[in-house]
Amino acid sequence: MAISENYPLFIGGNWIDKQEKYDVLNPATEEVIARVPNAGPEEMKQAVEAAVNAQAAWADTVASERARILSDAARLMRERTEKLAEIMTIEEGKPLAEARGEIAYAASFLEWFAEEAKRIYGDTIPSNSRDKRILVIKRPVGVTAAITPWNFPAAMITRKIGPAFAAGCTMIVKPSELTPLSALEIARIFEEVGLPKGVLSIIVGTEPAELTRVLMDDVRVRKISFTGSTSVGKLLMKQAADTMKRVSFELGGHAPFIVFPDADLDEAVSHAVLAKMRGMGEACVAANRFYVHEEILEVFTEKFASRLEAMKVGNGLEEGISVGPLIEPSAVRKVEDHVQDAVAKGAKLVVGGERTGQEKGYYYPPTLLTNVNEEMKVAHEETFGPVAAILPFSTEEEVIQKANNTNYGLAAYFFTRDVGRIFRLADQLEYGILGANDGMPSTAQAPFGGIKESGLGREGSKYGIEEYLDIKYVSLGGITN
Ligand code: NAD
Repeated sequence: MAISENYPLFIGGNWIDKQEKYDVLNPATEEVIARVPNAGPEEMKQAVEAAVNAQAAWADTVASERARILSDAARLMRERTEKLAEIMTIEEGKPLAEARGEIAYAASFLEWFAEEAKRIYGDTIPSNSRDKRILVIKRPVGVTAAITPWNFPAAMITRKIGPAFAAGCTMIVKPSELTPLSALEIARIFEEVGLPKGVLSIIVGTEPAELTRVLMDDVRVRKISFTGSTSVGKLLMKQAADTMKRVSFELGGHAPFIVFPDADLDEAVSHAVLAKMRGMGEACVAANRFYVHEEILEVFTEKFASRLEAMKVGNGLEEGISVGPLIEPSAVRKVEDHVQDAVAKGAKLVVGGERTGQEKGYYYPPTLLTNVNEEMKVAHEETFGPVAAILPFSTEEEVIQKANNTNYGLAAYFFTRDVGRIFRLADQLEYGILGANDGMPSTAQAPFGGIKESGLGREGSKYGIEEYLDIKYVSLGGITN
């Protein structure tokens, strides 16, 4: 199924086509679904100029007007759920029901930050001098840029646009070259709700390093917000140093999922399926390592295996499909490599482990491994696919040490009914997001982000907008007469 609409670039509020195009593929069928302009540095420079020109007026709009634009955009996004979800499934592969869920999640960031725009409060601080007052004000950081991945093609964009626009920043978005259509649909929405020209540009192209270099080298771009792999994040952090840009990074993860013997096992299994299989395991917060207490190892494994076995693999547009294709052939190769490495080192395949019969599409079935040890890749690298690896443990101390034994620190999950233990784990697990009896903690009201090599800064919540605001203080003298 090809998409018949034309998708030019969105530069400074204008739709600009380009002769040079590239193919967007459907990972379920390997068919070309659209051809989009392949932007280069020239188009990126135009986007920066437009943002610079629009910045001052945008920063000076009243908060209620920025809030209106964001909430109108959220409403349009929800109204268009069916169309947007279908486009997402066709370009990214996730099942339609999940794509609809992502559109709702994406809209929720616009709604949340529409409200936060009205609450950019300052402070007054008592001074040491009777003659002075100290005032704290917050101002937008200026022109910002977002670089986003393919796995959440809409939500990773709105989670950045929302706070940027609420704060009064302009933004240039460079989405993943694999999922440009969802991004360009977001531009259409903002155009329709009356976003001033230049406040948003969306630049898609197959040479991300060349495109982002323009952003990184330009001193007028005051902040970048990146979601993607840790390796690219580190590269961008180095590049940001030359112009001392503000940075936020939402990077890779390697989430432990810990089940204690006092947990509600059926609950834990249901959440394990969610935490592992959402987006075919291609989520930064996906559970990768399942630490299960030895007393419940057998029963947990059986229950988890039967849930994974029942999941239907196929084209996400079809009814009843809960596992779509992975994004690219290289993603399938990585998953295969992790599974083969584990089996070669003594792991046992309980479910899956072999590519299934589809002729076309980058499919890999839900897979469950037991007898896993810390030497295997699945135990220390982000698999980014539908593979669950179970490792036994016997004490709380041991499992905390194992769970923390990684450079990643994004999300961790643990299941227990012991309140004291919940607090001990919340203190000691070195992760930014902790799901205590919860396999799906992400929500617009909560601060999302990692520690260690999983990132810097937070998105969503009342904290998310601070990433787009500079603090200034005014020392006001001459009070006494
Ligand atoms: P990626 O790092 O390859 O790509 C992310 C973005 O960076 C894309 O827009 C891409 O075009 C661009 N990019 C790629 N190479 C670049 C370079 N050399 N210079 C500048 N830009 C470059 O990651 P991906 O494969 O798209 O996404 C998967 C990764 O993202 C996983 O590691 C996942 O954990 C992470 N992720 C993190 C979060 C989070 O919130 N922490 C959310 C989603 C995904």
